[in-house]
Amino acid sequence: MIDVKIKKLHLKNTWTIARNSSDYKENIFIKIERNGITGFGEAAPNVRYGQTAELTIQKIKHAEKILDKHNWFQFAEIKESLDNEIQDQSCAKAAIDMAILDWVGKSLKTPLYEYWGLNPLLTPITSFSIGIDTPDILIKKIEQASEYPVLKIKVGKDNEKKIVEAVRRITDKPLRIDANEAWTAKEEALEKILWMQEQNIEFIEQPMPSDMIDETAWLRERIDIPIVADESVKTTNDIAKLAEAFDGINIKLMKSGGLLEAKKMIEVAHSLGMKVMLGCMIESSLAITAAAHLSPCVEWADLDGHLLISNDPFAGVKVENGRLILDDSPGLGINGDF
Ligand code: MG
Repeated sequence: MIDVKIKKLHLKNTWTIARNSSDYKENIFIKIERNGITGFGEAAPNVRYGQTAELTIQKIKHAEKILDKHNWFQFAEIKESLDNEIQDQSCAKAAIDMAILDWVGKSLKTPLYEYWGLNPLLTPITSFSIGIDTPDILIKKIEQASEYPVLKIKVGKDNEKKIVEAVRRITDKPLRIDANEAWTAKEEALEKILWMQEQNIEFIEQPMPSDMIDETAWLRERIDIPIVADESVKTTNDIAKLAEAFDGINIKLMKSGGLLEAKKMIEVAHSLGMKVMLGCMIESSLAITAAAHLSPCVEWADLDGHLLISNDPFAGVKVENGRLILDDSPGLGINGDF
């Protein structure tokens, strides 16, 4: 039996990106229990990928019978069954995969990073994301974000220069720019990126729509900063075709369908010479901490979803001067309930 609940996560500030705007996010939280040990998971449905809370809950319910018939230590088999039976609503799979691995870690009394042989001292610095806003509000948000050494700035509503100029007037911190597929003409994207790369920009994320791979490859030949894929990549199968167009990929548990697939994606991307960022949706400390356990083996992290909400039901990974700090409690190492 999977205990499932929808919970409204309130955003500290209205969150605007190129596609849409929101004041809260409804995520689904799950709990599974066996042998007196509880595993927790979270799904953050995202409309961009055709996900809804209702469909996510349906798929989680559907997964109950898969969990019932498996030994949870054999989680590779569970993943295979989930992949066969749940083709959409990858966030539902992410919640289950997270809960199983939390349960496994707790059962073995081992933090997940240790189970995977990863060094928690090697977690990267996470960027702190600033949504699209007027220059005045942006300045306020950037002042509030003074403790974070790297900022990720959302653009794509045709006011990029104003936004970047406003940010640069008050800080010289490294900036990562995320256009969320906003630029549909390659010449427009080129002109904007050529201007931006003079502004100490670390990389540009998803400048063009997800299927415009050839146009992105054209762009890559003409600019000096790395291009990172986000909307263009969901699972391992997407990576090889992106290697000519992108320098790196943004892996999110809600797109990959969980930690096991994300781990495989990191290995495949690295084998193709691509860098990896671990990113997130608007998520509580539960899903963010899950992703943080994989972060010692990636180059970049953008795991700040929990920092953007005001009613986080969980506590887990800490962020100190931007660095992700994991403690040595077993499983995901999260505290809280829903
Ligand atoms: Mg993105």
